[in-house]
Amino acid sequence: MRRLLIAGNWKMNCGPYDAAELLEGLKARKAEVDEQVDVLVCPPFVSIGMAVKYLYDTDIQVGAQNLHFEENGAYTGEISGSMLAESGCNYVIIGHSERRQYFGETDDSVNKRTQKALEHKLAPIICVGESLKQRKAGDHYDLVKDQVSAALEGISEEQVLDVVIAYEPIWAIGTGETASPEQAQEMHEHIRKILADLYNQEAADSINILYGGSMKPANAQELLSQPDVDGGLIGGASLDADSFSEIITIAE
Ligand code: PGA
Repeated sequence: MRRLLIAGNWKMNCGPYDAAELLEGLKARKAEVDEQVDVLVCPPFVSIGMAVKYLYDTDIQVGAQNLHFEENGAYTGEISGSMLAESGCNYVIIGHSERRQYFGETDDSVNKRTQKALEHKLAPIICVGESLKQRKAGDHYDLVKDQVSAALEGISEEQVLDVVIAYEPIWAIGTGETASPEQAQEMHEHIRKILADLYNQEAADSINILYGGSMKPANAQELLSQPDVDGGLIGGASLDADSFSEIITIAE
């Protein structure tokens, strides 16, 4: 039985002061997390320390939004997997469409980052998803298949059990437009089939597949009730303690 994962992707919002305020709000509403649901916040790098400190006595976990695939060295401005693990992170988002679109990340670099994350016992949340143009052209199933297969190249059957996939249709991110529950379910089912083909059914059945793209309290229930939707990667609504807590409550 898969536990749901409700993950907040803060993106480039909330330095340490704002993070403290948001975390206070979250803690006041949600110090204890239901047994069926895992909860995670992914602040920007500079606020990870604050988040770990604030949340140490709660069940809420902390993740990062990216990592570099090199171990250390002359890579100005980058953060490594070992640094994240040392800072108290358990998860890391990889290959978000904003990283692919604005920072030149490719399927190949997503694969390298995934390997590095697993090496450091950080559960990678691998983001995949199509643009509106790709969906309209009917290319979305093939594209997602390519993204998932490329990200998992060289990842063993044992390692893949720690992987999380996030399906985030680009046209639904930050737009207020959400995939319908049917569209989400169809793609999640497709992803689970890809995982079963790459590994085996048992592994596919145990991997969390999150939906991301304008998830909010008003639509969380119908999305999360789909059989292959195992949680959410939530951007905008995770910046508001009330909304994020409400989604967690819905998931429970
Ligand atoms: P959104 O972002 O919830 O603001 O659409 C989701 C994401 O990009 O992870």
